[in-house]
Amino acid sequence: MAGEPKDDCLFCKIVEGHVPATIVRETDTTVAFRDINPQAPTHVLVIPKAHYKDAAALATADPALAADLLREAQAVADEDKLESYRIVFNTGAGAGQTVFHTHAHVLGGRGMQWPPG
Ligand code: C5P
Repeated sequence: MAGEPKDDCLFCKIVEGHVPATIVRETDTTVAFRDINPQAPTHVLVIPKAHYKDAAALATADPALAADLLREAQAVADEDKLESYRIVFNTGAGAGQTVFHTHAHVLGGRGMQWPPG
């Protein structure tokens, strides 16, 4: 069923506390934790507790939850005192998605290039 935990999903295991993570924020619907392979001084992943494979699947099934993710990205930026930051949703393996549980990368604390690689 849409949103139900998936047995083989790493981020569902983080939500359930079965895989360790450095959690920086948690709400009723979301968890934010530091990426284990940071690409910037602030590199936090914001995920919904419910399982959806990517950002579009989440937004289609539960637009309010998708909005929660964006608000939490701003809260992470506020906590790390970032004046500007980047939100990235890698979508599909060709774009670099390796974990198929929706996650917003919140990146900041250094200059950013455009276009991204
Ligand atoms: O967009 P993508 O799917 O590649 O992002 C997955 C991210 O999850 C990677 O940046 C990776 O470093 C991170 N990760 C993590 N903790 C884990 C496994 C992966 O922060 N235990």
